[in-house]
Amino acid sequence: MIKRFFFYYRPYRGLFLLDFGCAVLAGLIELGFPIAINKFVDDLLPKGEWGIIVGASIGLLALYILNMFLMYIVNYYGHMLGINIETDMRKKLFGHIQKLSFRYFDNTKTGHLLSRLTNDMMQIGEVAHHGPEDLFIAIMTLLGAFTLMMLIHWKLAVMTFIIVPAIIWVVIYFNGKMTKAIHQLFGDIGDFNACIEDNVGGIRVVQAFTNEKHEIKQFTENNSRFRLTKLMSYKLIAKNGSISYMMMRFVTLFVMVCGTWFVIKGGLTYGQFIGFLLLTNVFFRPIEKINAIIESYPQGIAGFKRYTELLDTEPDIQDSPKAVELGELKQAIQFENVSFGYENEAAVLSGINLTIRKGETVAFVGPSGAGKTTLCSLLPRFYEVSGGRITVDGSDIRDVKLESLRRQIGIVQQDVFLFAGTIRENLLYGKLGASEEQLWEAARQARLEEFIKSQPEGMDTVIGERGVKLSGGQKQRLAIARMFLKNPPILILDEATSALDTETELMIQQSLSELSQGRTTLVIAHRLATIKNADRIVVVTPDGIAEQGRHEELVGAGGIYSRLHEAQFGALQMS
Ligand code: ADP
Ligand code: MG
Repeated sequence: MIKRFFFYYRPYRGLFLLDFGCAVLAGLIELGFPIAINKFVDDLLPKGEWGIIVGASIGLLALYILNMFLMYIVNYYGHMLGINIETDMRKKLFGHIQKLSFRYFDNTKTGHLLSRLTNDMMQIGEVAHHGPEDLFIAIMTLLGAFTLMMLIHWKLAVMTFIIVPAIIWVVIYFNGKMTKAIHQLFGDIGDFNACIEDNVGGIRVVQAFTNEKHEIKQFTENNSRFRLTKLMSYKLIAKNGSISYMMMRFVTLFVMVCGTWFVIKGGLTYGQFIGFLLLTNVFFRPIEKINAIIESYPQGIAGFKRYTELLDTEPDIQDSPKAVELGELKQAIQFENVSFGYENEAAVLSGINLTIRKGETVAFVGPSGAGKTTLCSLLPRFYEVSGGRITVDGSDIRDVKLESLRRQIGIVQQDVFLFAGTIRENLLYGKLGASEEQLWEAARQARLEEFIKSQPEGMDTVIGERGVKLSGGQKQRLAIARMFLKNPPILILDEATSALDTETELMIQQSLSELSQGRTTLVIAHRLATIKNADRIVVVTPDGIAEQGRHEELVGAGGIYSRLHEAQFGALQMS
C-alpha cells in the first residue's frame, strides 16, 4: 500500500525534494540552537567582549531569518505537493467511477461516493504532504538530539532516556485506538451524505407526504450517532495529548533536578545545563508534532484505503482485451437463448430468442415487471447476460468495443434525466460540439423550437435540477431532440410517453415516429394504440416470450395480446 501511495509523488519529485530538503535543513538548524547557546554561555559570556557577543548574536539572527524562509517554503510548497497529489487522485477516481457498471450503482449510495471524492481526498492530501516529511524529520530530530545530549553529559542523557519508551508507548497505543475511531467517523460521514442526498433529492415527495418530521427524526438519529463517534475520537485525542504533555513536562522537571545536582557536584557547566534543557525540548518536539498530526494521519490512511478499494473495484462490464470495433448495424440483432437475473441467474429472463432485422420496429408489451426494460438494457450491455448471447450482425456484443456498441444505440425513457443546466447544454449532450444550426434543427424535429423561442433566454434557459422547470412533455421533447442530434441507428423507446397525458402523448408520438424513421427501433409500449403499426409485437411475460406477430395477427390469435387489447379497448389501461 505504501508503494502505491508513493506512486503519486512521482510527477512531483522536484517539489518533494525542495520541500524535504528545506524541512531537513530547518530541522538541523533547530538542533544547532541549543549547542550555540551552550557555547555562548560557556565560552563567550565569561570573556565579556561585546564585539564577539554582538557578532554571535547577528549570526544567530541570520540563522533565524534563514529558518523563517525555510518554514515558508515548507508550508507553502509542501502543501502544494499535497494539493497536487489530491487533485491527481481525485481525477483518477472520478475517471474510474465513470467506468463502473450499472450493477455497482444499483448497490451504492451516491453520498458515499461523494465523501470518497471530497473528504477522503482532502485527508489524503494532508497526509501526502505531512506524512513522509514529518516522519523523517521526527526521526532525524530524535536521533540528533539524542546524540547531542549524549555528547554533553552521557550520564544525564541515559537517566533522561529511561523514561522515553513509556512516552513512545503511550503515543503508539492511543494512535492505534484512534485509527479505529476515525475509520468509523468517516464511514458515518458517508452515511450522512447519503442521507442528505436522498432527502434533498426527494424533498418534493417529503413535503407532499408532509413527512418532514419523520425525515428530521431520522436525520437527528444520524446526527447524534455522528456526534457520539466524533466525541469519542476527540476524547482519545485529548487523552493522548494530555498524557503526552504531562510526561514531557515531567521529563523537563526531572532533567532540571538531576542537572542541578550534576552542576553542584561539578562536571556540568551552566552552558551545558541550559543547552541540555533546550535539547530536551527539541527532543520532545517531534513527539508533540506526531501528537498534532496524529489527527490527520489515521484519517488519511483510512481514506487512502477506501480510495484504493474503490479504485480496485473492477467494472463488471468492460472491453475484453481482444474487443473489436463494431461497424454500423447492417443486418440484424439477435437474442440467442438469453437468460438474465439481477441477483441470481435467470430469475428475470430465460430462454429469450429473438431476431430484430435492420430497420424493423419491434414493440414489447406485457405486464409490469415482466422484464421488458431489462431485456432492452441487455442490448447496450448495461448488464451482462447470464446465459446465451446477444449478437449484432453476428458478433457477440461481449466481443466488441463498448463504445462502438453504445454509440449506435439511443434510449428515450419514461423518466428522462436532464442535467441541471441550460437547454443548450442538455441538447449538446446528444452530440458534443454540434453547431448552432444542428441544435435548432433538432429542436425543430422534436417540435421544441417554439417553446425555446418563447423563452426570454432562448437556448440558454436554465431548466433546473433534473429539468424541474419543464413540463413532462417539454422534458420528453428535449430528450427526443437530444436523440435527433445523437442520430443513432438503433433506438430504444422505453415507455417514452407513458407519463404524459393522452393529448401530449399523441403529439409526442408524432415526433417519436419521425425519430424512428430509418432506424431499428425497440419500443416498449404502455398503450397498445401507439404500437399498432409496429412491424412486430412481442408479448413478454414473466415466463418469457408468449407470442409475437403483427397487431392484426395477434388480435386474431385470441391469446394474451387479444385479451390485453380488449381490456384497453374498454378504456382500461394496462400497466
Ligand atoms: P418491465 O420493464 O417489464 O416492467 P423490468 O425489466 O423493469 O420490468 O423488471 C423486471 C424485474 O426485474 C422486476 O421484477 C424488477 O423488480 C427487477 N429489476 C428491475 N431492475 C432491477 C435492478 N436494477 N436490480 C434488481 N432488480 C431489478
Ligand atoms: Mg419497464
